[in-house]
Amino acid sequence: DELGQDYLEVRDLTVDFEGFKAVDGVDLTLLQGRLHFLIGPNGAGKTTLVDALTGLVPATGLARYRNRDLLTMKPHQIVRSGIGRTFQTATVFEHLSVLQNLDIAGGVHRKAWRLPLARRGTPDYVQHALETIGLTDLRDRPAGVLAHGQKQWLEIGMLLVQDAKVMFLDETVAGMSHEERDATGELLQRIGSERTTVVIEHDMDFVRSFADVVTVMHAGKVLAEGSLAEIQSDARVQEVYLGR
Ligand code: ADP
Repeated sequence: DELGQDYLEVRDLTVDFEGFKAVDGVDLTLLQGRLHFLIGPNGAGKTTLVDALTGLVPATGLARYRNRDLLTMKPHQIVRSGIGRTFQTATVFEHLSVLQNLDIAGGVHRKAWRLPLARRGTPDYVQHALETIGLTDLRDRPAGVLAHGQKQWLEIGMLLVQDAKVMFLDETVAGMSHEERDATGELLQRIGSERTTVVIEHDMDFVRSFADVVTVMHAGKVLAEGSLAEIQSDARVQEVYLGR
């Protein structure tokens, strides 16, 4: 194709909640290998946009990924086509170990219902994900005892074992220490080169350090898009954030 790489193309995407357009005619081109950050005030429509792209709310328009329109697909079909997301509150199985969480996420994705881990050993893709997210030493601990930041990394690991090529992350670094935040940014850079990554984010220091492209949403629309420097010098963005 003309862009020469994997991408997700969104055109005129609209989510209408009984007359209220939470997302209103959004156009976006999300390229592989870029860390896209989605920012904007509360209520701007960021979460609803991601909900629409992952099949959780109905939407009109087009969301083309590998010649399919995500807007016509069910959530499980969207996951199967390589699109994954994390949630602000990590959705790990608290009573299962880190390793079991990764194994289950990968097994469900592969429709493989198998012997217990103890009787078959750790699959390579699980071991690889464990190392990538840096939780090897905690592999046998229940996920419930992990620190907040570590749970977010586990969720990212669950996207890796699902072979997600497009990752939507929702405020992943909220509540993290500076060290954890930087480690998260470096993790996203490492795994992001062969993926399309979209992060909903409020932490502007994190955006400044790691964003390749920033999209500002306001009142359901894309207000501005570009580098952080570009959008910060945009008069409409200043008006929304600073009331000027
Ligand atoms: P953001 O993630 O940018 O904070 P949201 O996507 O959560 O914004 O919300 C956008 C707007 O849509 C808000 O005004 C919110 O109240 C509204 N909204 C979200 N979900 C629903 C729903 N299921 N029904 C009606 N309105 C909704």
